[in-house]
Amino acid sequence: MSPEEFDRACRTLVRGCPWVSETSGYRSKGRNEAVGGSPHSKHLLGMARDFAAPSMNGLGQADKFARTLGLWTYIHDVGSGSHLHVQGLEKGDVPDWWIKKYGKGVRDGRTT
Ligand SMILES: [Zn+2]
Repeated sequence: MSPEEFDRACRTLVRGCPWVSETSGYRSKGRNEAVGGSPHSKHLLGMARDFAAPSMNGLGQADKFARTLGLWTYIHDVGSGSHLHVQGLEKGDVPDWWIKKYGKGVRDGRTT
């Protein structure tokens, strides 16, 4: 999934589940370390976002909907309540072709 497709999927998610609010998106390396994120976190690439919802039920519904959009998801609690984590890339190593094609653009776009 390209960064554009990921952005579109996230917007569709928020439109379909308007009760969710985004709590985290792109993270710098320093910020990611500060919150105890994985060194392979897709947040570092701008390809992951976290959403909060007023209820677990609302979070579960958003989770189901996000999966229909082709997002990889899980619900976790990193100390500030349960969040829906969604990402536009499969877990694990990011494919080289993706980094070559989008990696630089994502970083450059986010540092300005
Ligand atoms: Zn996350």
